[in-house]
Amino acid sequence: MESIGVLLLCPLMPYLEEELDKRFKLFRFWNYPQKTQFLKDNAHSIRAVVGGTTDGADADLIEALPKLEIVSSFSVGVDKIDLNKCREKGIRVTNTPDVLTDDVADLTIGLILALLRRICACDQYVRSGKWKQGDFELTTKFSGKTVGIIGLGRIGMAIATRAEAFDCPISYYSRTEKPESKYKYYPNVVELASNCDILVVACPLTKETHHIINREVINALGPKGVLINVGRGKHVDEPELVSSLLQGRLGGAGLDVFENEPHVPEQLFGLDNVVLLPHVGSATVETRTAMADIVLGNLEAHFLGKPLLTPLV
Ligand code: NAP
Repeated sequence: MESIGVLLLCPLMPYLEEELDKRFKLFRFWNYPQKTQFLKDNAHSIRAVVGGTTDGADADLIEALPKLEIVSSFSVGVDKIDLNKCREKGIRVTNTPDVLTDDVADLTIGLILALLRRICACDQYVRSGKWKQGDFELTTKFSGKTVGIIGLGRIGMAIATRAEAFDCPISYYSRTEKPESKYKYYPNVVELASNCDILVVACPLTKETHHIINREVINALGPKGVLINVGRGKHVDEPELVSSLLQGRLGGAGLDVFENEPHVPEQLFGLDNVVLLPHVGSATVETRTAMADIVLGNLEAHFLGKPLLTPLV
């Protein structure tokens, strides 16, 4: 397999790069500033593309790679890949489902607790010596709050299970009702937002879910409600979110993802009712290693003519 060209779109994880290097002829796309020339010179030897949450195979890249057979994504979300183009051209697509579910759900609960109990501010309070001047202000209880989840899939279900342990009533919105779950279904996001204290976004980014969190949803959630986004930044109309927080129309926000990563609206930096994370939902050694092994396993299976581990297309 050493002669098979694999194009790695962005740095993902040293372990994955080393293992790809051992098995394939690896091209690191970021090492070639003249992208058009690079593609002209190497397009005919590249049979696989590996990308992740920030970089995927869009229509232009797919068109530029006539020998492309498989796109193996180091992520469960595939919003950066032109799936229709892949289907049209018979290019296989794989992602990394399941192995990251626990981490993202754990982090969601962490975000909720950090936001409601103001854990980051408490830590600063101790470090800065302010505790000696008096106790920290009272915060907000999590246990028993109503949690609404957009997207009751693998991650959404894992969040629901965890929130249940905090005695939180769970409700959800997705395109189809999940009768196998015992949670309350709302057929639209505004109704869900009107009926929960904590609204969690955990659905895939698609044309339909782009800006699924808009002014109407934020107003329905209200000044006591909080938004948690562990999906993708583009689920949220960010300028609208910022203005709702500045105007006190929304109680708070815990965000792992942003519209234009790694750029975060600076108005958020001065607010004490937000917790801001640098897209680290799946970022543990254990999970990222498992994700890398799935990427490698899918590529090897494909080129050995075996069934893919996690086929999407
Ligand atoms: P999944 O198992 O496919 O679940 C997705 C859920 O979203 C399903 O319940 C689906 O139900 C629902 N859904 C799909 N389209 C929808 C729509 N238009 N409106 C409302 N709900 C919709 O996916 P997963 O493994 O849980 O992952 C979910 C997403 O989390 C990923 O796509 C990714 O973007 C994000 N993620 C983020 C991080 C991070 O680091 N923050 C890490 C991993 C994943 P229906 O089909 O019935 O609508």
